[in-house]
Amino acid sequence: MAHTFNVDTQAPQQSIDITEKVVAAVAESGVDDGFCHVMVLHSTASIIINETADPNIGRDVIDALGRAVPTRSDWLHDRIDDNAHSHIKAAILGPSEMIAIDQGALVLGKWQEIMLIEFDGPRERQVSVRFLSS
Ligand code: ZN
Repeated sequence: MAHTFNVDTQAPQQSIDITEKVVAAVAESGVDDGFCHVMVLHSTASIIINETADPNIGRDVIDALGRAVPTRSDWLHDRIDDNAHSHIKAAILGPSEMIAIDQGALVLGKWQEIMLIEFDGPRERQVSVRFLSS
């Protein structure tokens, strides 16, 4: 069972709530109990689970990584692609999350949503959702 959707990011760095798209993929899958694996198919974006009720949290995550990983430094990858900081930030957060499905619903806490974090936008990003049914 596989499902893929696209996300059009609008800014160089941005957090986008993709929970509804994943919920739709779960419904389409028909999986009642199991797991779903959500993975962005790019090396300069990430998937995380956190709160989107306050959109400043996404900004704060991006700002914190910006303080830890300077945009301009002596990164080796900048010699050929000029976006090393984007790759490093994406590597720190990781490309995917695995979420349990219980009675057809994602097992998430009240303040947890699924977010795509863009580090090298704007771009069209592909997100893969795959399922394990138990
Ligand atoms: Zn690159």
